[in-house]
Amino acid sequence: MEVRVRYAPSPTGLQHIGGIRTALFNYFFARANGGKFILRVEDTDRERYSDESLDDLYSTLDWLGIKWDEGPVVGGPYGPYIQSERFDLYKEYAEKLVEMGKAYYCFCTPERLEEVRKQQVESKSEYQGYDRHCAHLSDSEIKEYLRQGIKPVIRLRVPTEGKTTFHDILMGDITRRNRDVSPDPILLKSDGFPTYHLANVVDDHLMHITHIMRAQEWIPSGPLHVLLYEAFGWEVPQYCHLPMVMGKDGQKLSKRHGSTAVRDFRAKGYLPEAILNYVTLVGWSLDGSTEFFSKEALEKCFTMEGIHKSPAVFDYKKLDWFNGQYIRQCDDKRLAELITPYLEEAGYVSSPLSEADKNLIAQIVPPVKERMKVLSDVVPLTSFLFRDVPVEDKATYIAKGSDEENTKAALIEGSEILLAGLKNGKAESEIEEDLVALSQKLGIKVNGVFQPIRVAITNSTVSLPLFDSIRLLGIEETENRLKRAERLFEEK
Ligand code: GLU
Ligand code: ZN
Repeated sequence: MEVRVRYAPSPTGLQHIGGIRTALFNYFFARANGGKFILRVEDTDRERYSDESLDDLYSTLDWLGIKWDEGPVVGGPYGPYIQSERFDLYKEYAEKLVEMGKAYYCFCTPERLEEVRKQQVESKSEYQGYDRHCAHLSDSEIKEYLRQGIKPVIRLRVPTEGKTTFHDILMGDITRRNRDVSPDPILLKSDGFPTYHLANVVDDHLMHITHIMRAQEWIPSGPLHVLLYEAFGWEVPQYCHLPMVMGKDGQKLSKRHGSTAVRDFRAKGYLPEAILNYVTLVGWSLDGSTEFFSKEALEKCFTMEGIHKSPAVFDYKKLDWFNGQYIRQCDDKRLAELITPYLEEAGYVSSPLSEADKNLIAQIVPPVKERMKVLSDVVPLTSFLFRDVPVEDKATYIAKGSDEENTKAALIEGSEILLAGLKNGKAESEIEEDLVALSQKLGIKVNGVFQPIRVAITNSTVSLPLFDSIRLLGIEETENRLKRAERLFEEK
């Protein structure tokens, strides 16, 4: 039997970490088993639908390099793959259930339903929900309602006795008493639109889905879906509900923890391979120790057995670490292309790039590559090259354990050593040794000499390595900035 899995998002918001993890698990599972990965757009909720969400879905998968075998745009044998283009079909299937006696028309007005609800609340009735008023209408009653032009909804007949069990690959058997399943849920609304449950089950069946991997929040829908499959007389697919994605505090991952939309990560300068690698490790592992996986590797080695039962923690710091690793693996040419938009947006270079900009960017790449966690870090790391905003606060120049007087001496004598060395073509390592010797002479720590020099040159305490900065800035400008810092310390 061919493995066929699907990612079935509702385009009602931006693709977030949890959603994309579901997509990745499905995609890798399909690939690793020589199966098919299907994308289905569940846009039955027209009120919450947005074009922006749909665009975001496509562009996010695209950016991650996830291609679907069947779905919107590419088509496939069981299309269309957008539910709003399949509405007639759901109606047809709902009517089938009515014919089979597994579902029925309900003509209750919203007012009546509200009245029922109110009474249930007031009488503190144990029984909540639809009172099955229309469950046993006679043919003539139905005809009469229809003649009056009342448009019915179609409700599933949920058994009042017995239990329903469904098997979940991770969680084992999950059993609910049928009386605890929502009483006779609506499958088709009076306007002919299907509800989520009907469309989801009909499509999974018609699209020959073999395994349903989805978020654990869908577990409560499980028994109802199984009842629906049974009502149709269809085989139930295999379920594998995925562990929740949590923040570090053990709460469900949400905006309170930080960005959750993949689009935001992308904008900040996370690489797709880092997101893909790290997000797949949120709740899955191969052997408990391997951390680095390329997309190609995961397409081969992903297993369902590796999915964890317990909730998974999304660790932003760990993602940063992964991203830094992937940035360092990037080849320089690609990295130059990747950082360019950030430099353009900061107004540091012109768009399109001039030849001079291109050269400068090529020179920037090697040193920033070692320092960036995210691509947007290139802006603060290189701002000293493009915007000269000197640090006016003396305290910033003074390293821990040093003081104003020593810092002034370090600046004056250090500049001399540095500039003379550079002008005479002395090796950087030797200049560095001379600066270390200066710190010993002054009786301060090494940083007591390097920090003021670095702050003078790069206008910042977080910056690129000293000699890289000087190379990018040029000796003349380096000298200007060092002299400027000396003057600051000479002022009274
Ligand atoms: N449209 C549902 C969602 O947005 C799909 C749930 C499922 O995978 O069955 O998550
Ligand atoms: Zn009714």
